[in-house]
Amino acid sequence: MTHLSDPFNRPINYLRISVTDRCNLRCIYCMPPEGVELLSHGEILSYEEIARIAALAADLGINKIRITGGEPLVRARLKELVALLAGLKGIDDISLTTNGILLKDYAAELKQAGLKRVNVSLDSLNRDRFERITRHNKLVDVLQGIETAKGCGLNPVKVNMVVMRGINDDEVIDFARLTISQGWHVRFIELMPFVTDNPPDGHSVAGKVNIHPGFVSADEVKERLQGLGGLEPSLPITGNGPARYYRFSNAGGTVGFIAPVSQHFCFSCNRLRLTAEGKLRPCLLDDGEVDLRQPLRRGASDVELKKVITEAIHTKPHKHRLIDGRTSKKRLMSQVGG
Ligand code: SAM
Repeated sequence: MTHLSDPFNRPINYLRISVTDRCNLRCIYCMPPEGVELLSHGEILSYEEIARIAALAADLGINKIRITGGEPLVRARLKELVALLAGLKGIDDISLTTNGILLKDYAAELKQAGLKRVNVSLDSLNRDRFERITRHNKLVDVLQGIETAKGCGLNPVKVNMVVMRGINDDEVIDFARLTISQGWHVRFIELMPFVTDNPPDGHSVAGKVNIHPGFVSADEVKERLQGLGGLEPSLPITGNGPARYYRFSNAGGTVGFIAPVSQHFCFSCNRLRLTAEGKLRPCLLDDGEVDLRQPLRRGASDVELKKVITEAIHTKPHKHRLIDGRTSKKRLMSQVGG
């Protein structure tokens, strides 16, 4: 296999592909209630275009792909893309990040098409609160989606919770308990500041980036979990991602902590992102992007496209600049592919 690395000698083997900027939720920290201006059908890469880029990336050394969005399950016939990606030489892991609402309908066909595992975003186990955070009353669908995904053999199913002070931070113990009672794999994620976001307290932060008022550090969450018993370090359940994993002694599942703000993991970042309209983005929190759609649609050769991909990797920043108050100004998480 070819090995791809950036100028800081970080191996790059992971491509996150956003298949849409549309979402069937409006999470308070991610999107305004009215949504955001959406891409037109013609602006979005077709599955064949995505698969061609993925094939070239695989040739260069990418072996892991995650499908994300927006909400990836709102795009029609996603299983066709999964099947195309699963057929690519060199790709040995295909995963999905979803809010889980439609998972009960699609988990089986996605698994059959070649999907290996799934991450479900879930910020509250309380129905009213789930609705306040996401602006939709869909908690039951998400919980059914998680069970269906497990039942179909998608493994592991990881549940990702963004912890927000005064909004859902009092539920961290309830989530952690599910690693014992249900064998869930739960990961607590620090809230990242996006300039254009609507902070949960409702005040605009336009033009100014700060640690979010709702921010809770991963260390604080870990400390709060000690009440449930001793947490022992655990090996990662899959992959080699940024989470630090632990386990309660009597638990079948794990708790993980992802701390992009308080303990950035840029030194080990192996990711490249492809937005729904075909921009390669080497860093989630930096607006540097390289366009692939235009050369793709004017008939560029494989060699030319590979050059664009390699050049994008060469612009990957050493680390994100949240510490200096800099974050993504152009896009929300839903428009990058979280
Ligand atoms: N719709 C899919 C989902 O809900 O998983 C995929 C896209 S969503 C943008 C991906 C993840 O980004 C979700 O887990 C969401 O909670 C997370 N996210 C969005 N904005 C965030 C922020 N400001 N800080 C931390 N995580 C964020």
